[in-house]
Amino acid sequence: MLDQYNAFDYHGAINYSWEITMGKGFSLETYPWVYTSKYTENKEWKDEYTEKPHKSPEEEALMAEKELSELLQKRNSFPELPLVNYTTQYGMGCFEGMKAYPQKDGSLKIFRPDENASRMKRSMEGLMMPGFPEDKFLEASINIVRKNRDCGFFPKYDPAWEADNYVSGHSIYIRPFSYSEPAIGLSVSSSPWIVFIATPVGSYFDPGSSKAVVTEKFRATPGGTGWIKCDANYVVPILAKKEAALNGFMEAVFLDSVEQKYVEEGSSCNIFFKLKDGTLVTPSLGDTILPGINRKSVIELAKDISVTVEERKIEISEVMEKADECFVTGTAAGVSYIESLTYNGKTAVFNNGVQGELTAELQKMLKSIQYGAVEDTKGWMVAV
Ligand SMILES: *Cc1c(COP(=O)(O)O)cnc(C)c1O
Repeated sequence: MLDQYNAFDYHGAINYSWEITMGKGFSLETYPWVYTSKYTENKEWKDEYTEKPHKSPEEEALMAEKELSELLQKRNSFPELPLVNYTTQYGMGCFEGMKAYPQKDGSLKIFRPDENASRMKRSMEGLMMPGFPEDKFLEASINIVRKNRDCGFFPKYDPAWEADNYVSGHSIYIRPFSYSEPAIGLSVSSSPWIVFIATPVGSYFDPGSSKAVVTEKFRATPGGTGWIKCDANYVVPILAKKEAALNGFMEAVFLDSVEQKYVEEGSSCNIFFKLKDGTLVTPSLGDTILPGINRKSVIELAKDISVTVEERKIEISEVMEKADECFVTGTAAGVSYIESLTYNGKTAVFNNGVQGELTAELQKMLKSIQYGAVEDTKGWMVAV
């Protein structure tokens, strides 16, 4: 029987690269309920929840690939949205990514959706669109998970995930995004849609393939859009990651575009280094770095266990010499260790190429909160 959470080919991909690898499957497996909201001429957001065609998850799991693919295509079709517009023609759009986690008690909880709500608003305003209200974002996040759950579409908690501290755990990925009104001229979107879709994500961790390479490409420049989560920011990282993959690396790491010596980010994730003196360093935020919610959470968790955390500029030369652990953070990545980093033909191997102690500890702390294995004393988890 086809396991609905393993319908994609995750093999050879470490878990933070699923956005790129999931496209290799027959189709994108979105859940039936979607949310759309349109900014109207009256300057109001008009909400709509739609139940797309589906069978029961059990019936869908038994469907032939071609039939299922046709059904999923119907699910991923939004005839009311215009094809030609500022988003499809010029990349004038932004998005979010967050996850809902199955809890031990059978419920589902979303990790810090209030943070995604405020970042989405900042991204939209950064693209000179009307910002989507944070309370509406929160409500839609909860409702999209609830409505899909109520028709059977959600991952069930599996105690087997406890054995590896939830590295193998499944969750629901929620993808809100903006989409412009019909247009072909050069301008900003003034009456966009917001769309929320949800899709199951599993996890596949291949410990043999987390080599990273410093790319010569630049993700963001001062005065650009690196600080918001907009579509256009992804073009260069996807190319850099593909180029890295063709050379046998799993991740591309970006340097700053001005001096070309400070480490900034991974392809779609923030980056941390544990130095040999025990300090945890991550590049400070600015207009070329995306303020990740996992970044912020990991900084807080590290401080909780009395690790010295520095948010500052960090030179690639310092990393190559002084780091003995490296990991990336993001909603898809969680906390994922990087075994080595290659720069200018030289390779620094971190902790003999295996996951370091601090990386493992922070990964465990974060996942334990997300899956409800420990009490959420920080109020990060929002019940559905
Ligand atoms: C989304 C994203 C991240 C990670 O942000 P999270 O809120 O932790 O998921 C990091 N870097 C870039 C460039 C991103 O787009």
